[in-house]
Amino acid sequence: MDMDPRMPKAVWGFNGTEKPGAVYLAAVLAAYTQKGLPAFGIYGRDVQDSKDTTVPEDVKSKILGFARAGLAVALMQGKSYLAMGGVSMGIAGSIVDHNFFESYLGMRVETIDMTEFIRRIDKEIYDKDEFEKAIKWVKEKCPEGEDPNKPEKQRTREEKDGDWGFSVKMALIARDLMIGNDKLSEIGYGEEALGHNAIASGFQGQRQWTDHFPNGDFMETILNTSFDWNGKRAPHIVATENDSLNGASMLFGNLLTNTAQIFSDVRTYWSAESVKRVTGYELTGDLKDGFLHLINSGSTTLDGCGQQTKDGKPAMKPFWEIEDSEVEKCLDATTWHTSALGYFRGGGYSTRFSTRGNMLVTMSRINIVKGLGPVLQIAEGVTGELPEDVHNTLDERTNPTWPTTWFVPRTTGKGAFKDVYSVMNNWGANHGAISYGHIGADLITLASMLRIPVFMHNVNEDKIFRPSAWNSFGTENRESADYKACEVYGSLY
Ligand code: MN
Repeated sequence: MDMDPRMPKAVWGFNGTEKPGAVYLAAVLAAYTQKGLPAFGIYGRDVQDSKDTTVPEDVKSKILGFARAGLAVALMQGKSYLAMGGVSMGIAGSIVDHNFFESYLGMRVETIDMTEFIRRIDKEIYDKDEFEKAIKWVKEKCPEGEDPNKPEKQRTREEKDGDWGFSVKMALIARDLMIGNDKLSEIGYGEEALGHNAIASGFQGQRQWTDHFPNGDFMETILNTSFDWNGKRAPHIVATENDSLNGASMLFGNLLTNTAQIFSDVRTYWSAESVKRVTGYELTGDLKDGFLHLINSGSTTLDGCGQQTKDGKPAMKPFWEIEDSEVEKCLDATTWHTSALGYFRGGGYSTRFSTRGNMLVTMSRINIVKGLGPVLQIAEGVTGELPEDVHNTLDERTNPTWPTTWFVPRTTGKGAFKDVYSVMNNWGANHGAISYGHIGADLITLASMLRIPVFMHNVNEDKIFRPSAWNSFGTENRESADYKACEVYGSLY
């Protein structure tokens, strides 16, 4: 048996009679449990003959679930979270906790001051050819929408054009800071060419930067998206407001699915009664028992508009599965608005779109609890659509120049998932990371490898796959057993 405590382990015991794998499986799992090395046990439900080389569906699903989470653990390890700036507006998740990244994810935190953007813009430390290509693409593909500011307060055309150029440079610079760029060493900047080996990052923005300069919204949106002026590519994970805990949650979703992620404020619970009072409209279908308004400028990927399709339904796909026509549809569904100057005095461009309904999604969030450590919460659900006038009335009560997702978590009638209101009421922070598909089970498997307990989820019990040692901490109350197991094993690094 493998004894490396950092290597995620799984053992498949063949369900047969001639050479029973069950005995080996039980023996080795007992050994792993006794030695404090958590391992996943895989045992097929149906008896197979010894010459049968097929892998049954239930075994397949467990092997793949283990592999997805194990790969996520491996891909994070040794990489960085790049904090660009400090704490945004006092948001707790933006107080970047180095110990969390180091001890739980095997990552490091690198930090830069936002003045680095100004130095690189002023000294032209970016690929100028790429900038020309990018700004041309942006002018063609990113149409400007309505300016939300009073006419006398609006920025001039000249200022707005300047903001576009500045925003595109910020995007190039943030990417180069994260992953480096060989082109920079050709122009004499060898150190800058290296980058920070960052698999995720965050940009403070508010308030000092955005009070004076164009905000980071364009940069955050385009980096989080599966395409740009260079074509389709893997999305980068960039958390707005440097909310590193939402960034880490986005990273989990991205590593498990290879898709882009939505970053949102969990802004409003709309009950059916409130919608009726404000709009006169009676909710129907998925939305009938109320919904959550997810909205934030910046880090919401353009993929989040739901204009990609899988099996005839709205989807967010890995970049290599996205059709060229779907890229165009995402761009067509989006308008770019100069910032509401009350929020962002320095201008900049935010996206507006609304997510198509009937897309399966999972919202998650890591929170840090003093005396306990990190904990994860998960809500699977579906996006919803409202009639246009109802949509606009609700959307315009908050910030109409930001992208909106109406989200209905799947309720179970009990605990934190008693109803939609309870989900809102139990959510542990102001933000959530939203991933395509129902990935709660994979998130739980990943969290168990990293020893992060899950305190609130609506994943069906029979889909949950954790190391077999977790059973020894209690089989009646799985949530408490998870907490105890994570405490006993401690962080992975
Ligand atoms: Mn926010």
